[in-house]
Amino acid sequence: DKFPSYIGRFAPSPSGPLHFGSLIAAVASYLDARAHQGKWLLRIEDIDTPRCIAGADKAICEALVAHELLWDGDILYQSQRLAEYQSVVDHLLQLQQAYYCTCTRKEIKAQGGVYPGTCRLAKRDSEGAAIRVKLDNPVTTFNDRIRGRETITEAHALEDTIIKRRDGLFAYNLVVVLDDIYQQVTHVVRGSDILPTTATHLSLYAILGKPAPQYAHIPVAAVEKGRKLSKQNRAAPLNLATPSQNLMQALAFLNIIVPDYLRTANCQEILHWAVAQWNCNKLPPQSEIIVGGCKSTYH
Ligand code: GLU
Ligand code: ZN
Repeated sequence: DKFPSYIGRFAPSPSGPLHFGSLIAAVASYLDARAHQGKWLLRIEDIDTPRCIAGADKAICEALVAHELLWDGDILYQSQRLAEYQSVVDHLLQLQQAYYCTCTRKEIKAQGGVYPGTCRLAKRDSEGAAIRVKLDNPVTTFNDRIRGRETITEAHALEDTIIKRRDGLFAYNLVVVLDDIYQQVTHVVRGSDILPTTATHLSLYAILGKPAPQYAHIPVAAVEKGRKLSKQNRAAPLNLATPSQNLMQALAFLNIIVPDYLRTANCQEILHWAVAQWNCNKLPPQSEIIVGGCKSTYH
């Protein structure tokens, strides 16, 4: 049992309480893990400190518990892993697989919006510079368990990505990979908003010489076309007084319609039923589903 064949995770950013959009990702990753008799880990992605809100991690845990979405083992906080991230960045710099970049956003925009590798060979000073990884052979395709073969064509998704920002913060694209490696995650189930950067993640696995997990990207809930439901656009926190209703709505979003006899069931019973129904091939393959005025509907 030391190396279970399935380790999944839910990796929320503590930028606010759990809302309907993040509940969907929690439920989908949970069901996939349990349907595979796998582990389901919880990782708090508190790397982007300016966006973190004090107490949001606790609120997220409380909401998960209220929905009986019970994780295995200890919670991993990214803020505990800074030394590890730094040592990987140092190592990549040493190997000249990473380099300092002093280009501003404005300069890159003026060059067409895609970073052309300007600083690759320039040996920039570290002062005030970001650090980018050299993606010599960017991965462009992968098999998504829900969506099938995905090919990433957006040039910016294949550019030398920033791994440490000018402001000293480690970049999400680096730490998500390092943490999934560290936690021995075998299966990632997450929102399709992250799908384009999955190519970057796969490139990083290749550079680090580690096997990549399997990916499944579920649709994101959007308030309107192209605008995902998020804390930034007033997604209401989940009403913890109605957990089983929230759960049924999240399941309905995933095309899993709870039968009438379970309408009054508790979360545990609903989840138990849903694990048995779970089938990646029956999930909606689109990248977003418009749920509209979430505030009145889901709260
Ligand atoms: N922290 C990310 C988010 O809340 C999720 C990243 C992932 O699942 O890989 O959107
Ligand atoms: Zn540059």
